[in-house]
Amino acid sequence: MTLPEPPPASLRLTIDKAALAENWRTLDRLSGTAEAGAAVKADGYGLGIDNVMPALLDAGARHFFVAHWSEVGDVLRYVRGEQVAVLHGVANAEEAAYAKAAGCVPVINSMAQARCWTEAGGGTCHLMIDSGINRLGISPVEAGDPAIQALQVDTLMSHLASADEESVLNERQLATFRAVLPQVQAQQISLANSAGIALGSDYHFDLTRPGLALYGGVPRVELSRDIRQVATIEAAVLQVRNLQPGDTVGYNAVWQAQEPTRAATISLGYADGILRSWGQGGALQHGEHRLPIIGRVSMDMIVVDCGDSQLKEGDFCSLPYGLPQAAEVSGLSQYELLTVLGHRFLRQS
Ligand SMILES: *Cc1c(COP(=O)(O)O)cnc(C)c1O
Repeated sequence: MTLPEPPPASLRLTIDKAALAENWRTLDRLSGTAEAGAAVKADGYGLGIDNVMPALLDAGARHFFVAHWSEVGDVLRYVRGEQVAVLHGVANAEEAAYAKAAGCVPVINSMAQARCWTEAGGGTCHLMIDSGINRLGISPVEAGDPAIQALQVDTLMSHLASADEESVLNERQLATFRAVLPQVQAQQISLANSAGIALGSDYHFDLTRPGLALYGGVPRVELSRDIRQVATIEAAVLQVRNLQPGDTVGYNAVWQAQEPTRAATISLGYADGILRSWGQGGALQHGEHRLPIIGRVSMDMIVVDCGDSQLKEGDFCSLPYGLPQAAEVSGLSQYELLTVLGHRFLRQS
């Protein structure tokens, strides 16, 4: 049996490609003499590779970062392998062989990875120095090791742990990274993520690696004026009902009407990435009207108080998704707000 196309989705994720492109240009400009790349891991921070790659390419981005080898295929529909860096590197011969076949560039993160890459035939790679985040990367003292010296390093990089804060760790990591630079031959140097770009020119080197801020995240106030919102969320009203005093709403009856209340059930739930934490103080918006969330967020539904709005079945409401504000309301990080978004949205631009 062949099914017809399904009817239009009752929830929409709209990606403002012009804003995304402008954010890349802004971050490239703020990177000074360095060039901005683009982190597109986790399906373009949840917005969809096919939505984000064309906009980033139009804007002028040339260097792309993913975490997993499974993410490479989608990106290679838009760029050449040498433009794609894989942050998890090569853990074994199978991954090294895949890297060779794809022509993508592994980020070498350990002595074992360095040997693995060399044994697979070597070639251009990137090298991650752990300057203090203690996650991935070789330690500074390992930089002089023959296994590292044998690598053909394109980008020598490190990653900041606290670039979104005023922290002594930033200067410490910068100093640690600087001390390694003379020891490793490389084509270019890279340190800053989105927040690191706002730390100033000392942190820029040759290539910056913004992710979050491309997609509308504001990790530091210095960026708040220039970064534009990229993702907006809308969902349809499934039903409207009139509640009487004493009626309760949703699982475990945690909300109870104190007065006659019009309530609307919205097609949006935690399976879509709108987690339960939105229930404490979150609200949807319809025109001028703020519609507080009442009761628990369910898997597929959220109930809101219609107040004096004329909301009716089939209307679309928006969930305010400006990331800094949405993070405060939901208690989630701006990163989580993007990457939790589920697969039922009609992603449109
Ligand atoms: C994810 C990631 C980035 C991008 O960081 P943002 O904070 O999203 O700008 C840059 N570099 C590395 C190594 C990463 O893992």
